[in-house]
Amino acid sequence: MNELVRRCIAGDNRAAARLITLLESQDRDAYAALYRLKDQAGRAQVIGITGPPGVGKSTLVDKLITQFRGRGLKVGVLAVDPSSPFSGGAILGDRLRMQSHATDTGVFIRSLATRGSLGGISKATHAAIRVLDAAGYDTVLVETVGVGQSEIDIVRVADTVVLVSVPGLGDDIQVIKAGIMEIGDIFVVNKADRDGADRVVRELRAMLAMQVQLRQGQAPLSGPDTLAARDPDFMHHAGLEPGLSTGEAQESSVPPVLKTIAETGAGVPELADAIVFHFERLKKTGALEYKRLESIRYQLSQFVFDEITHLLSLSELSKVRDDLAQKVFSRKLDVYSAGMALFHSIPEQGATHEHPQT
Ligand code: GDP
Repeated sequence: MNELVRRCIAGDNRAAARLITLLESQDRDAYAALYRLKDQAGRAQVIGITGPPGVGKSTLVDKLITQFRGRGLKVGVLAVDPSSPFSGGAILGDRLRMQSHATDTGVFIRSLATRGSLGGISKATHAAIRVLDAAGYDTVLVETVGVGQSEIDIVRVADTVVLVSVPGLGDDIQVIKAGIMEIGDIFVVNKADRDGADRVVRELRAMLAMQVQLRQGQAPLSGPDTLAARDPDFMHHAGLEPGLSTGEAQESSVPPVLKTIAETGAGVPELADAIVFHFERLKKTGALEYKRLESIRYQLSQFVFDEITHLLSLSELSKVRDDLAQKVFSRKLDVYSAGMALFHSIPEQGATHEHPQT
């Protein structure tokens, strides 16, 4: 494993691929090896590309690879489909679209198939991002299928989230619901060669402007809702100027809405510019540190949640749960007391778990 990690840090694509395969299969040694990658972490810009199936994400990613390669950047692509256990093959088929980059050693393309739990896939995705980051990829594109909660979980860890939509999705804008809108940093209306693209752009811009207005109304730029007030240590750790408010550290302007025709590549250079600009701005304002710290917090919570879900699936704990369920059913216990009893029986189980690096 040490040798694999060393080769990975040296930029060996095959070692990176092997490590990602091990992480995908939830290999505990591989997870332990992530510890040795930590000094190399945090250099890549992680870009989440999400949107409903068929909007042209893969085509767009293919064109973005060309753009970033043209700018001398190494590009990693992780394609994730958490929604279907049967999609591994299909998504690999989709990647054929990106075959033109197959011989380019500065490009790494990989599908992450669903193995078991959803928690597993998001954990493996985060781990794979770290591997590509350590292997010297400047840009890591994470493409997810769909716009459900699981996709949000995955793209929430990205520095820059690109939400892709198209004209004629029926209820158009309704597809991008408020929760999804919240996580988008850049909005793309692809298939702009089709009728109605301008209308979707207008609607998106109006909704985003309204959202920013609402947010500014709710959260004043100064006062009690400052970053420093919420988390005094953060300002220090993030190296931010004291007095910089949340509003300034995060972004306060309306996210850009861009039109693209992925098939021809029209609008893609502008999209690449917007992606780079967003990252530069995050770095300049100090919002990158804030975003990444938030993302780590989120991942930690997610990690614990996944571990508990895993423990509940093990026989000892599921037996405790089944016994408690029986007691609730026969009215010896109420569901809340039973839930607490189950919760309190978790730590002893958790203690038997190995975590070599802690
Ligand atoms: P994904 O499922 O979001 O990854 O979408 P794909 O990239 O697989 O694209 C779905 C279909 O839309 C394919 O047949 C593409 O050729 C087509 N497509 C992608 N971009 C455009 C575009 O800008 N205009 C048109 N008309 N078709 C496009």
